[in-house]
Amino acid sequence: MAVNLLEYDLGGLAAFCAGLGEKRFRAVQLFRWIHQKGEADFSRMTDLARSLREKLPGLAEVRALPVISEHVSADGTIKWLFDVGGGNAVETVFIPEVDRGTLCVSSQAGCAVGCRFCSTGAQGFSRNLSTAEITAQLWFAEHRLRQHLQLAEGERAIDNVVMMGMGEPLQNYTALLPALRTMLDDHAYGLSRRRVTVSTSGVVPMIERLRQDCPVALAVSLHAPTDALRDDLVPLNRKYPLHELLGACGAYLERAPRDFITFEYCMLDGVNDAPEQAQALVRLVKGRAGAPAVACKLNLIPFNPFPASGLTRSPRERIVAFAKVLQDAGIVTTVRKTRGDDIDAACGQLAGEVQDRTRLNERLTRRPVRIPVRAAAADGAGR
Ligand code: SAH
Ligand code: SF4
Repeated sequence: MAVNLLEYDLGGLAAFCAGLGEKRFRAVQLFRWIHQKGEADFSRMTDLARSLREKLPGLAEVRALPVISEHVSADGTIKWLFDVGGGNAVETVFIPEVDRGTLCVSSQAGCAVGCRFCSTGAQGFSRNLSTAEITAQLWFAEHRLRQHLQLAEGERAIDNVVMMGMGEPLQNYTALLPALRTMLDDHAYGLSRRRVTVSTSGVVPMIERLRQDCPVALAVSLHAPTDALRDDLVPLNRKYPLHELLGACGAYLERAPRDFITFEYCMLDGVNDAPEQAQALVRLVKGRAGAPAVACKLNLIPFNPFPASGLTRSPRERIVAFAKVLQDAGIVTTVRKTRGDDIDAACGQLAGEVQDRTRLNERLTRRPVRIPVRAAAADGAGR
């Protein structure tokens, strides 16, 4: 099958072109056509050498993901559902801001971490997306939006990418890295590294790898100030407890000294939203609970409920009071606005359609079943 050129960052495309006997500048031209112009038809890449234009079809293609649906929210948020084959679908969300906007991108079909408050996690894990499948979400959304928003030539629609869709990006690191490089590349989307955010539930060794390979903005999903509670909410904490996670965050910032980590904290009624828990959180990030201080901002996310979770959203006053404790301690704290609620596009609501090959949902909901002996016997007798 023809290779999908969305699989490559510029280095990869240059290597592919070298294999065809083509110089690097041809790869740059091709890369710009694909990502800056959104062109998928080689015959229309007019300044590409005719020899290369003729060589490419059959060997290569620019293959987008089939779109299953597109939903536009009353507030302008757009959600796409993409078919990634094998009965799996992933979601991508565009969140418009005053000018331009943010794209929320998925990295896996399902997720193996299984956080208690997350509907993606509740589905279990199906598979990693390839680089092409990650990049295709941005490629499609950017060029679709340019048409939809009727942008002028050269104007772009997306100036922020957050890896906050379905999946744990740092458990799909090999595929993620070239996709990040394409987002940052001036010959492609040219996003600044502060405007590309990887959000992680805390895969400590991969935070270190990201620091070395491609230090973009980092968001860490904290959700609890103590290991006991975090073990329960984010099961990965049992493997990488808070002191290791905070240590990795501190080390990450050494590579990017003017930066900060964004800690995400999902507000769950009666679970993690008490004022004492806010105090414990202050001690944790200020370095008085056995871990070093970390330059950070706190982003409180009102929980988006889904029935199977058995959890509810903290009341507004409780979120405000929690935020105040943090702010009084000098921590910059924001409460996330819920966008795209009417189309289930808000944080944690991205469910797609995933073949649960880990049967996580089944394990979570399995209860011992008592068979009423008499009824069963009667049934048997009647047959
Ligand atoms: N796996 C990564 C990125 C995807 S989730 C991570 O966990 O960081 C993106 C953000 O949405 C995370 O902070 C996650 O904790 C949060 N989230 C998940 N389910 C949610 C829900 N039901 N309500 C609010 N936020 C949720
Ligand atoms: Fe996976 Fe993130 Fe959901 Fe946890 S919150 S289950 S890590 S997608």
